[in-house]
Amino acid sequence: MYTHTAVTLPEQFTSSQDWDAYTPENHGMWNFLYSRQRKLIESRACQEYLDGVDLLGLTPDRIPNYAELSNIMHKKTGWRIAVVPCFIPADLFFSLLAQRHFPATAWIRSPENVDYLPEPDMFHDVFGHFPLLVHPTFADYLCEFGKGGVKAMKAGQAELDMIQRLYWFTVEFGLVNTHLGPKIYGAGILSSKGESIYALEDKAPHHVRFDLKRVMRTTYRIDQFQKTYFVIDNFLQMFNDTMQNFDPIYAELKKTPTISWTEIDPKDQVIQRGTVEGQPDDTRTTPEELMEKLNKTRAEREGKKP
Ligand code: FE
Repeated sequence: MYTHTAVTLPEQFTSSQDWDAYTPENHGMWNFLYSRQRKLIESRACQEYLDGVDLLGLTPDRIPNYAELSNIMHKKTGWRIAVVPCFIPADLFFSLLAQRHFPATAWIRSPENVDYLPEPDMFHDVFGHFPLLVHPTFADYLCEFGKGGVKAMKAGQAELDMIQRLYWFTVEFGLVNTHLGPKIYGAGILSSKGESIYALEDKAPHHVRFDLKRVMRTTYRIDQFQKTYFVIDNFLQMFNDTMQNFDPIYAELKKTPTISWTEIDPKDQVIQRGTVEGQPDDTRTTPEELMEKLNKTRAEREGKKP
C-alpha cells in the first residue's frame, strides 16, 4: 500500500482540471487524436504500455478525468497527477517526480495545432506518459530518476545536462527490445503520428543499444525527429542503472567529449545504422518559429480555457 503525501506547488504553477469546462470540441479533439494514434501504435508500442492504456481505462469517447486516473495510478504504483498550467522549472519537475507526482497539463490542443506542438498538452501527457506510470518497474525508475535530478540540480549545469539527456532518450524517446524487435515506450514518440512510424520504420535514424554513459553524452534536438534512438533490454535494466551513484559517472563524463545526435560512436552496439538524412514531416520548424508558436499557443490558451 502506498501512503499519499500531498505536495504543495508554488502558486504560479498550481492548476486543476476543470473537467466540466471542456467543450464538445475539446472532447472531439481527444477522440480524433486518441482514435488515430491508438490504431497507429497498436503494433508499435511495447506490451507494458498497451496494458497500461487498458488498466487506466482510456477510451476515445471523452477526455479522461484526472481524479479517476490519479486514483488508479496511486493504487497501482503510488503515483499521482500534479496538474500544472505550463512548463515548470527543472527543480520543481525533479522534486515532483521524486515524490511520485507526475506534472501534467489539462489543456488540449486546437485544430490548427493538431500535429505539432512546441509545448506538451494533455494528449501528450495522458496518452504518452500515463500508461507506463502504472507499470511498477517503470514507475520506480521514474521516481529514482527524479531523485537523481534533485541531486544533479545541486551539482551543476553539466550534471543537469547529463541527466536531462537520460530523460529525453528514455522517458520521451525510448525504444525497448522485444522478441518481435524494437517497440516504442517513449511518450514523445507515442503521442506523435509521424514519429511513431518514423522511429521504427524509417531508414534515417540509428538504433543503438542503451548504455547509460553513452546516453548521458549524447546531445539532442527538440525541434526535429530524432536521429538516434536508444534501445533498452527492459525496464529493470534502466531502473538498476539509475539506482547507482551518478557522481563518479559525472566526474568521468565531464572529461569526455559529447556525441552529436547524428553520430555513431566506435563503442556503440548498433542495431540499425541510420542514413541520418531526410525529414519525413515538414511540420517541424526552426527554433525561432518554434518560439513564435509557443508564444501563440500560450496566448491562445490564456484567452480561452481550458
Ligand atoms: Fe513529455
